[in-house]
Amino acid sequence: MPSDAARRTAAIVGAGQAGARTAAALRKKGWQDRILLVGDEVELPYERPPLSKEVLSKHADPLTGCLYPAEWYKEQEVELRTGTRVGSLDVRGRRLHLADGRSEAWDALVLATGARARRLCLPGADLDGILTLRTAADARALRAALRPGAQVVLVGGGFIGLELAASAGACGCRVTLLEARSCLLDRALPRRVADYLADRHRAQGIDLRLGVQLEAFEGDTRVRAVRLADGTRLAADLVVVGVGSQPNVELAATAGLPCDDGVLAGPGCAVAPGVHAVGDCARFADAWSGGRVRLESWENAELAPQAAAAAILGDVRPYGGLPWFWTDQYDLNLQLLGTKVPLEREVLRGDPYSGSFCHFGLAAGRIVTAALVNAGRERRPVKRLIEQGVEVDAERLADPHTPLKQLAKAA
Ligand SMILES: Cc1cc2nc3c(=O)[nH]c(=O)nc-3n(C[C@H](O)[C@H](O)[C@H](O)COP(=O)(O)OP(=O)(O)OC[C@H]3O[C@@H](n4cnc5c(N)ncnc54)[C@H](O)[C@@H]3O)c2cc1C
Repeated sequence: MPSDAARRTAAIVGAGQAGARTAAALRKKGWQDRILLVGDEVELPYERPPLSKEVLSKHADPLTGCLYPAEWYKEQEVELRTGTRVGSLDVRGRRLHLADGRSEAWDALVLATGARARRLCLPGADLDGILTLRTAADARALRAALRPGAQVVLVGGGFIGLELAASAGACGCRVTLLEARSCLLDRALPRRVADYLADRHRAQGIDLRLGVQLEAFEGDTRVRAVRLADGTRLAADLVVVGVGSQPNVELAATAGLPCDDGVLAGPGCAVAPGVHAVGDCARFADAWSGGRVRLESWENAELAPQAAAAAILGDVRPYGGLPWFWTDQYDLNLQLLGTKVPLEREVLRGDPYSGSFCHFGLAAGRIVTAALVNAGRERRPVKRLIEQGVEVDAERLADPHTPLKQLAKAA
């Protein structure tokens, strides 16, 4: 390690998945100087996917997704400061100011501030008993409230809302799920797969209502009911709002860094000289689609830190690849490859009623998106087919007896 005087500091703001992975990637790729990792949550950095799944449905520890044990930070000489908020940044002077009044100099800065749950601006939205889910603390509060027999109203039929519906059902709650659009996950899923998901939830006893507009939450100090625009009043012991998230960009924006629904990052996740942004907070120039995207996914929180760490060490490359996302609801594992784009043709492989099937979206004879329902084993060959832009025979693709590997080879 260099002498104290010669040591540079890589400071990482936000000690979530992307922040901790950035620290690890910097060490692994050969950064020998100081690493400072600052996060405002009190826990050691952890992954969030279990929070809406086994933490609620199976009472798993909210820190089941803890990334590294406390000793790891000592061994790797990563100075982890939990429960510490960064209040402001001085980009030109290369300093960060902590909310407790202290400040730190940095040579390289990585913003990994993530996102927060979006809230609804409706009358009664601040009543007790209206929760959101983003953190381990939220998951603990929610778990305590999901009592058998409780009437739970979930607002938002996105991935988190659907996972919550499955988990609340597993806890013995009576669940109503409200979605404003006429179809679930309109922006992410093909209609066929969305309808399949809706059917599964209804079959599990979820009162799923689509195309519903909310008007207000009612109650004295605690929520008692949800009022809809058509006058319907739904009794509620608990409401959970899952209407998406918004990136934590205020720190960057106030410091004069470019932001537009995310901190804007280019090749190597670079935002400005010496500054990088990774994970949910970043909207990056995507090498895969050619556009600018902000991905809220476990995979992006794993991979962007690799690109940023490499860039800090001098290896600047375009970042981005075929997006992959998964969700678990009941015994159903859904994996998505690619993002929703206009399709020329849709191909179903396997029978949805068997509980396992794949849905492919084709454009110009090539697969551009895939939804794999309980068919995770097909992920690798499908990924290869999409990434290589292989032209496929739709009839053979639809035939579950034709191995996908063969389609790749046949091309
Ligand atoms: C309930 C839930 C379930 C999910 N399930 C899936 C799934 O099944 N599959 C999937 O692919 N993805 C899933 N995701 C998405 C995935 O977890 C996120 O994309 C990932 O956590 C993003 O990591 P991040 O480090 O960028 O952000 P975060 O995890 O949000 O971490 C950012 C951290 O920075 C802190 N911070 C912000 N501002 C400051 C500041 N000024 N000073 C100090 N600290 C600050 C925040 O408090 C937070 O701790 C899920 C997310 C949630 C919430």
